[in-house]
Amino acid sequence: MSQAALNPLDSMMSRFDEATKILGLDESTYNVLKYPQKSVMVHLPIMMDNGKVQVFEGYRVVHNGYLGPSKGGIRYSMDVNQDEVKALAAWMTWKCAVVGIPYGGGKGGIKCDPRSMSKGELERLTRAYTAAMFDVFGPDKDIPAPDMGTGQQEMAWLMDEYSKMKGFSSPAVVTGKPLVLGGSLGRVEATGRGVMVSTRSALAKLGINPIGATCAVQGFGNVGSISAKLIASQGLRIVAISDISGAYYNADGIDVDDAITYRDASNGTLDGYKKATKISNNDLLTLNVDVLVPAAMEDQITADNANNVKAKLIVEGANGPTSSNADAILNKKGIMVVPDILANAGGVTVSYFEWVQNRLGYFWTEERVNRRADRVMKQAFEGVYQASKKYGVSMRIAAYIVAIDKVASTMKLRGIY
Ligand code: GLU
Repeated sequence: MSQAALNPLDSMMSRFDEATKILGLDESTYNVLKYPQKSVMVHLPIMMDNGKVQVFEGYRVVHNGYLGPSKGGIRYSMDVNQDEVKALAAWMTWKCAVVGIPYGGGKGGIKCDPRSMSKGELERLTRAYTAAMFDVFGPDKDIPAPDMGTGQQEMAWLMDEYSKMKGFSSPAVVTGKPLVLGGSLGRVEATGRGVMVSTRSALAKLGINPIGATCAVQGFGNVGSISAKLIASQGLRIVAISDISGAYYNADGIDVDDAITYRDASNGTLDGYKKATKISNNDLLTLNVDVLVPAAMEDQITADNANNVKAKLIVEGANGPTSSNADAILNKKGIMVVPDILANAGGVTVSYFEWVQNRLGYFWTEERVNRRADRVMKQAFEGVYQASKKYGVSMRIAAYIVAIDKVASTMKLRGIY
């Protein structure tokens, strides 16, 4: 992390503070919304393949449940820590409120390096985590999903472990499941699709023609690769992509499908990708492009490099890719930022549809899922855009205002002790 990067919790709080001041939120409500409602930390002893027991740290934070059961992914990464999970949980509260789905926010994580673990070790770890969080999770309480380092297989183990402990199949306890276990069509692509829809909405406001506009995408996991592919399908030229192995640039455009095929055939990384020139991660962030999509992780655009960003539009596929100390710099440069809690909300929106389908026991076509998700994303974008005009603030602060206002008024109606 760069010197100028902030702890994600500080970045979240500084936007929260700014928005609550503009809203004129009273002190009591401020204090309630500031803290997570529940924060659980567990130590998970796992028998590793070499016969030794390794103890892992696991977290689950429920930030807020006023709008409904808490919702949010589970992250497997060596960077996981309590403050990061708290920030990510709060972002889920604001995200669900921005798109108007009936959920609060939560997040979980295990400090581990999933790339260095065997399938058996990952399964034991996921089951142990689920058993430890059995009292936290529940279809009406707290509903996990995939995040960095997790995917359909982890969600399948989680669903199975929870169901065994309950004594019956409980698919609605987790979303992002494989289709055969009650997953939803369109869920895998949902976050990237929402990023694409947000990009289109923002380009229209900026008066930029998507055909031939250029775009750089940081991160080539589920969110980055699918965002790149769908943004390219709208006529934009993807000139740079990146992952842990480095960044790759081609002024004539990168064939995203070809890069995905390459990644899948090479242990999941772009390492050695020859159809583009290798550049640094910082070069990618400061390329002269129309659109920049940071879809990797937190604190990539900071006070250190924000001044050098040349994109006209930033669409945040990742959670927290911009430190709060970079916000003012980007605003001053007139760069429109579609914030994470709006731009990447397509994922949790289709998670909500998955949960609805599980509870109905009736499944929708992909076309219906996409149509409804696109509508949610377009309406949320327009609402935030109008709020940014009304209050004369950035899209980011407008998104916080919309979200905090909604959660605060719900809290007031429900009442407290
Ligand atoms: N992990 C994703 C996010 O950060 C999805 C959460 C969900 O679907 O519950 O939005």
